[in-house]
Amino acid sequence: MIISAGAEKVVRRLRAGGYRAYLVGGCVRDALLGKEPVDWDVATSARPEQVTDCFGDLPVIPTGLKHGTVTVLSEHMPVEVTTFRKDGAYLDNRRPSEVFFVDDLKEDLSRRDFTINALAYAPEEGLIDCFGGAEDLKAGVIRTVGSPDERFGEDDLRILRALRFASTLGFRIDDRLSAGIHGNRNLLTRIAAERIAAELMKLLPGVRIFEILMEYADVFAVFIPEITPATGFDQRNPHHAYDVWEHTAVAISQATEDPIVRLALLFHDLGKPASFLVGEDGVGHFYGHEARGAAIAHHRLRKLRFDKDTVETVTALIKWHDAVIAPNRLLKWLSRLSPERLRLLFAVKRADGLAHTEMFQDARVRETETLERALDRILEEKTCYTLKDLAVNGKDLIDLGVPKGPRIGDILHALLDDVTEGKRPNERGALLSAAARLIDAGPPT
Ligand code: ATP
Ligand code: MG
Repeated sequence: MIISAGAEKVVRRLRAGGYRAYLVGGCVRDALLGKEPVDWDVATSARPEQVTDCFGDLPVIPTGLKHGTVTVLSEHMPVEVTTFRKDGAYLDNRRPSEVFFVDDLKEDLSRRDFTINALAYAPEEGLIDCFGGAEDLKAGVIRTVGSPDERFGEDDLRILRALRFASTLGFRIDDRLSAGIHGNRNLLTRIAAERIAAELMKLLPGVRIFEILMEYADVFAVFIPEITPATGFDQRNPHHAYDVWEHTAVAISQATEDPIVRLALLFHDLGKPASFLVGEDGVGHFYGHEARGAAIAHHRLRKLRFDKDTVETVTALIKWHDAVIAPNRLLKWLSRLSPERLRLLFAVKRADGLAHTEMFQDARVRETETLERALDRILEEKTCYTLKDLAVNGKDLIDLGVPKGPRIGDILHALLDDVTEGKRPNERGALLSAAARLIDAGPPT
């Protein structure tokens, strides 16, 4: 097992001070899987003040004293050191109301959520595995330490953590745990929106996301109820072999790992059930489903307290996911969406295309590839596409005699349209004379 020099040093130093100390939790799990751990946690019999004393020469930050945690900066690496503890009652279903320091490592491990997260390791002792975590890790199974119902009762977020680990590690969820997740899903209504949002973003890029979305649609529907009518919704359209939710799950699993792209795909067709219309030919249509989907995403993401930029980006991606974008109109699109958002839109379109009937897939995928190349070319050439790139500005118009006010913006936008449509070069002289003509013509009536 490869462990970081910084974390190992912390364990050794605590042991030299006469305390017990182990690497615990996610870092042991990831290291055993041969993955680089995100963060390194150490559990110890030393109390926080004793930990601080052990590291007099290193920066020690009291990051969570109430819960017995200090962070030691060791070899430029933050290592979280927490005193062995057990948790008191979970009064708010999220953080234990109090924690008790204990002397026993096993007791500390027993408060952890899943067997694969309840492993400890120390260089001299090797692996400490009290709950069969090593075997579960080998078999690729997520299982709670103790009964799922009891553990979910303490902290509801564990429901989503189970789905997250299954999705990202590609693991199977143990049958008892699976029943516990479905049975306790409504507990999710009482946990903080931000915590749901954070887990959602972590689980979307996972390798088993398709299976998780299909098997646990009812869980996601607790905070995105519009998923319920989408499951099993027959589209009656030759472009679609899948129902709306299955199409969504396929698209997400085919997409790039970017969680924003995947979040947009999660909502992209949720406006379909409410927009469904069967034509005289018996074919299903969904006019306006993009705007409906964007509205659903806006509402749900706001409720989940996503930041403003994410909400805006995702809503824009959904609004335009079915728009026909001609490569020679890209400049026009760039005056509406930033190059970054446009790239995300292509990624959404590509994944959406891959989830269509095979007959229509190739054309859709090729279309996004052409658009990518066209966008690369434009960005290389630095062709004008927003007001600030225009060769004239508001001050130029004031100098031409336009009074300050909305008319300035109107004229600048008209000039920008001309440039992006290729009617006029982005040159100062040409634009100033065009502006003069627009001023003479007066405002449109
Ligand atoms: P990652 O760091 O990859 O997101 P992790 O499993 O390390 O995953 P952390 O939030 O870093 O998750 O927590 C470290 C350890 O603390 C976990 O491995 C687990 O043992 C324990 N833990 C974290 N959150 C919970 C929880 N909600 N309930 C029980 N134990 C938890
Ligand atoms: Mg961790």
